[in-house]
This record gives sequence, structure tokens and C-alpha cells, in this order.
Amino acid sequence: MDLAGKTAVITGSNSGIGLGVAQALAAAGCAVVLNSFTDRPEDHALAADLGRRHGVTARYIAADMADGQACRDLVAKAGACDILVNNAGIQHVAPIEEFPAAIWDRIIAINLSSAFHTTAAALPGMKAKGWGRVINIASAHGLTASPFKSAYIAAKHGVVGLSKTTALETAGLGITANAICPGYVLTPLVEAQIPDQMKVHGMDRETVIREVMLLRQPSRQFATVEQIGGTAVYLCSPAADQVTGTTISVDGGWTAL
Ligand code: NAD
Repeated sequence: MDLAGKTAVITGSNSGIGLGVAQALAAAGCAVVLNSFTDRPEDHALAADLGRRHGVTARYIAADMADGQACRDLVAKAGACDILVNNAGIQHVAPIEEFPAAIWDRIIAINLSSAFHTTAAALPGMKAKGWGRVINIASAHGLTASPFKSAYIAAKHGVVGLSKTTALETAGLGITANAICPGYVLTPLVEAQIPDQMKVHGMDRETVIREVMLLRQPSRQFATVEQIGGTAVYLCSPAADQVTGTTISVDGGWTAL
């Protein structure tokens, strides 16, 4: 796969899945723009290191994906956006009656509305070039629900719907829009939960992963950031030119249940 000459903007990419996708795209020769809301020397160093390792241009642009104008400005500052990966996301767990309204609004803004704003900003450039890829990182929770995650699940179902509408509005123009729906992926965020879960359940690491965390994932194995990155690279390949308006589950069988 050769993505030389293309530029990808990946939101929320200074850790976890976003960083994994950025690495996979850079390994395919793509210039990458990393993003998060912080603006620390280590954020810029992360991009510089990634660029050096893969021999591509890699920049870090700070922008808060909770702010619609900042989302649009991120795409403008990137200069080019052939591949847009909407990945930034946060979670909060509480019953609906106790779910703080401000956190609901923030999750909808970061996990859903940011993708609307970045897509709106990126499509004119993609249409002008006659080529573009919009890859939205949804979730198995974009297709199924669990209790206590109302905002996250509403947002992720919304992301799946937005991907379909984007696909219809760009069909036949060389642009595709799809949602990748990961099951549980072993990111630093998930890794950090393992010790607490071990304590709460009085189980060893392997048992807590298999019996508690991966209860709904029939493979009983985490997906990896490399697998999500590989799926994104596939969506950028000519083999996926007619793959648009759909979801690709990388979930160990979760949504087959
Ligand atoms: P993570 O916390 O490692 O990554 C989230 C990224 O979003 C980070 O880079 C963070 O800095 C960034 N971010 C958070 N708020 C932001 C804001 N306001 N503006 C800009 N960036 C912001 O978590 P992750 O597990 O890598 O999750 C990445 C995406 O994948 C999310 O959309 C998440 O919902 C989705 N996802 C994760 C899993 C999983 O099991 N890890 C499963 C399905 C879907």
C-alpha cells in the first residue's frame, strides 16, 4: 500500500487507537497530522519521532474537538486533508437519571459533532481532488447498546449514521466514508483499568480479562491498535474504492451474538 503524496488528519491521536492509525498510515507513506487538546512539548516530539521513523512529514496540531470552530480550524491548518480519521472520544458511565447534562453535551460534542465539523471542512478539498477517505472510529457500541453509557452509545450510533449520509453525499466522486466499529481494544486507557478490576473481582489478570472485560467479545481476545490501523489502511486502498457507507466491525464476534 503506497499512500505517498496523501495527507491524513487524525483527531485524538496522541495515544491509543488514534496513534495506532497514524502509525499505520505513516508506515504506508502518508503524511500525518496528529491532534489532541493539549499543546505540550511531548505532543510535538511524538509527531517528530513518528515522522522520523517512517520518513514522512508528521505534525502535531493542538485543537479541542469539543469546540466546533476548532475542529474546522484543525482541517484548515493541516493545509491538506485527503484522509480524515475522526477518532477523538471520551466516555462516562452513569444511569440516565444521574447522568450529568454537561457531560452528556461534552460527549456528544467530542464523539459526534466534531466529526460533523471536520467532515464539513474536509469535503471541499476532497471533492476538488476527486479522492478522499472519511474514516470514523465508531464502536461496537455504534451498533449495540450497554446500560449506563447513554451518551457514548447515542454518539456512536450517530457516528454510524453520519458515515452513511457522508457516503451518499459523496458517492461517485472518488470519496468514501465508513465507520470502523472496534470491540474492546487494548489501549493504555483500557490497560489502566485492569489492576482495579483485578482488585474488585479478586481475580488474576488473565481471568479478569477473559471473564469480566471480554465477556461480550466471543474471541476473548482484545483487538489491537495495529489491527484498527490496518483496517484504516485497507479503507484507503484501491480494493476499498467501492466500500462506502458501511461499518467494519473489528470486535472478535461481539456483534454476531
Ligand atoms: P484514548 O483515551 O487512548 O484516546 C482518545 C484520544 O482522544 C486521546 O488522544 C485524547 O487525547 C483524545 N481526546 C480526548 N478529548 C479530546 C478533545 N476534547 N479534543 C481532542 N482530542 C481529544 O482512547 P482509545 O481507546 O484510543 O479511543 C479512541 C477512539 O476509539 C474513541 O473514539 C473511542 O470511543 C473508540 N473506541 C475505543 C475502544 C477501546 O476499547 N479502546 C473500543 C471502541 C471504540
